[in-house]
Amino acid sequence: MNPASVIVIGGGLAGSSAAIYLARLGWTVTLMERRAYPHHKVCGEFLSPECVPLLREMGVWDTIAQAMPATITRARITAPDGLCWEGDLPGTAIGFSRYRLDHLLIQTAQSAGVQVITETPVKAIHGNLVNGFQVETHQAHWPAQVVIGAYGKRSGLDRTLARPFLTRSHPYIAIKAHFSGDAIPHRVELHGFTGGYCGISEIEGGQVNLCLLARLSAFQAHGETIDRFITWMQTQNPYLALWLRTAHRVSEWVSIAQIPFVPKAAIEHDVLMSGDAAGLIAPLAGDGMGMALSGGKLIAQHLDRYLRGEWDADTLRQRYHAAWNRQFSPRLWWGRRLQAVMFRPHLLGLGLRVMQRWPALGSFFIRQTRQEAV
Ligand SMILES: Cc1cc2nc3c(=O)[nH]c(=O)nc-3n(C[C@H](O)[C@H](O)[C@H](O)COP(=O)(O)OP(=O)(O)OC[C@H]3O[C@@H](n4cnc5c(N)ncnc54)[C@H](O)[C@@H]3O)c2cc1C
Repeated sequence: MNPASVIVIGGGLAGSSAAIYLARLGWTVTLMERRAYPHHKVCGEFLSPECVPLLREMGVWDTIAQAMPATITRARITAPDGLCWEGDLPGTAIGFSRYRLDHLLIQTAQSAGVQVITETPVKAIHGNLVNGFQVETHQAHWPAQVVIGAYGKRSGLDRTLARPFLTRSHPYIAIKAHFSGDAIPHRVELHGFTGGYCGISEIEGGQVNLCLLARLSAFQAHGETIDRFITWMQTQNPYLALWLRTAHRVSEWVSIAQIPFVPKAAIEHDVLMSGDAAGLIAPLAGDGMGMALSGGKLIAQHLDRYLRGEWDADTLRQRYHAAWNRQFSPRLWWGRRLQAVMFRPHLLGLGLRVMQRWPALGSFFIRQTRQEAV
């Protein structure tokens, strides 16, 4: 088997983006994804304004625009006691389903020349930058010069790489589904409840995506099944109760648990991590997809210089590590702090009162969870 220049593990936004940029730079890229396309994914499906130029650059914007994504220009945050803050976003965001977006990007990667292998979970990664890598699947060992870990928040691969974040507990659960219901024109809404928060916003076709994040203890105490938990959640926030009263679910529920918001390393055993595999931002920031798309570009720019022989392995390690931290770490820090407030109704209520008094504070917090796309 001829070695690929690059093997990308994971065909979400970070993996597809890295693969597209690298293939366009002329490198031989193989991408391995454990699932088939299309598939639903747990996500708020709110694409921050910074995503649009990247989607244009990757050549998928026209297809997205034809599918009539929702345009979102305002944010509303509410607390269980009925307090509410509403303000402008710093630009126009869009609502578009992961079901279509991930599929569209993987098709674009294929058109760019990437060898895409689906329904193939990677079991282990052997080797390093100096000696080259072997990527192990159930069927074969695949040789590569470099490996990108874009396999999301958490995977069996984290265990084989003995990643330190696994030693901590991550007691969260996230749930999402699509609904038909009252329009939420041009707005993303975040509704707090004890131990969690629920986002609702429109996507293409006028449907509404509902996605919630809760502490596992709240889920266990108030439901243990999704439907029972949703029924309880409605009693916790008047805005959610009002909207859900007339809404109907039109897709299956999808859920994930053990979600790690703690810091991770951007390079592990010489595998360059991207997207959630390098660090997951709190969902309330609405910037994880932007980070995954821009992270793919960042990794491609760095690997291009390494593969051309301009940088040695040490320089690549140092430059990528520093660039990742510079570009993403401050946002992750702010996201974790704001999420801690969102989980606690009394703090959220206090925060919203302050933001009502000084509306510019809301815009300040939004700005801290994002930065201009590279
Ligand atoms: C509750 C919640 C709500 C969110 N809402 C938003 C939002 O509204 N806006 C926003 O911008 N961000 C949001 N995010 C964050 C966003 O979903 C992620 O940051 C984004 O999906 C990261 O993309 P990724 O490519 O790194 O990972 P993923 O999209 O998870 O892709 C990883 C891929 O790797 C594959 N994979 C895993 N293991 C293997 C393996 N061993 N071999 C092969 N393939 C493998 C998986 O099947 C998957 O397709 C939210 C996150 C959560 C938890």
